[in-house]
Amino acid sequence: MDFNINDITRENVKTLKPYSSARDEFEDFDTAKMIFLDANENPFQNGVNRYPDPQQNSVKAILARNNNVKASQILLGNGSDEVLDLLFRAFCEPKTDNIISLPPTYGMYSVLANINAVENREVLLSADFQPDVDKILDVVDDHTKIIFLCSPNNPTGNSFSDEGVVKLLQNFKGLVVIDEAYIDFSDKESWLTEIDEYPNLVITQTLSKAYGLAGIRLGICYASEAVISVLNKIKPPYNVNELTQQRAIVRLNDSDKIKKEIVSIIEQREELLKVLLEVGFVVKVYPTEANFVLVKVDDANKRYDQLIEKGIVIRNRTTQPLCENCLRFTIGIPEENYKLMDVLLRLNKQEI
Ligand code: PMP
Repeated sequence: MDFNINDITRENVKTLKPYSSARDEFEDFDTAKMIFLDANENPFQNGVNRYPDPQQNSVKAILARNNNVKASQILLGNGSDEVLDLLFRAFCEPKTDNIISLPPTYGMYSVLANINAVENREVLLSADFQPDVDKILDVVDDHTKIIFLCSPNNPTGNSFSDEGVVKLLQNFKGLVVIDEAYIDFSDKESWLTEIDEYPNLVITQTLSKAYGLAGIRLGICYASEAVISVLNKIKPPYNVNELTQQRAIVRLNDSDKIKKEIVSIIEQREELLKVLLEVGFVVKVYPTEANFVLVKVDDANKRYDQLIEKGIVIRNRTTQPLCENCLRFTIGIPEENYKLMDVLLRLNKQEI
């Protein structure tokens, strides 16, 4: 498949001269000997009086080492939501181009398409929540720039078959974005190992889930150097703030703790799955490879309200396609999960 980045990049982005910040023009800003009078900052030190590294080199160095990719194959954003938005802005011409998303899935692909005035062609997942590859390829036209695959998928929890993903990577001339926000909870390997294989493969990840840093907003995009350099042209100069970079580095260096938390979440998930099967009003428990589980119940609105009444907030997904009467439960700490299990079992016995 002949993929050419120039064929998919917006014309104005191709010709754009990016903003050059003070820190871009003199990069060695760690050099203690230099006097920095170039960025109109307040010179009095308080830890964050200087602009952050626009290329987040220290964070990228750790991610590159951990994931066996080059730092030049990484772009960081203010959450993966910003990364997704940058993909639209770099590659999709408003009112002309289109993207494909596969409901039921993460809602931001559709919202970002709307914000960017890009048509969102929706191709429903199959009954077992897998992409219908032939239908997707049928819907592709010359203006289709991106196909968004969320694997493991939110809200269904399953990941997509390798076969389907490879077929899309091999047959689609635009970008195949695989959103791996939940990959750390899955036994499946990340698609990162294939990034040198497919020039049209883009992988997004986040520190918001397994890494426990939703509050600092750090999203990651891995792709070919060609794709990353286009995104770098349009990203806001200081899109990842200094405090975020510092906290990310501390956390990324604490891999033992992260692993332990992931193990706990997975163990708890498996316990919850067993209990759910004992609950009479649960119609179906969908297989999950994420830190949540999708469950079909007799009456989602009723069960949602009952749980709220008991102080437990879950996500009601009943209005999503293929998700009628479905609830999504995020896995909490053991204490929270045991409370949830207790409430579900007691509701089942009509004790409460
Ligand atoms: N992708 C998926 C599939 C998600 O579920 C979420 C958050 N719910 C995100 C991306 C956004 O993550 P971030 O916090 O990095 O913006």
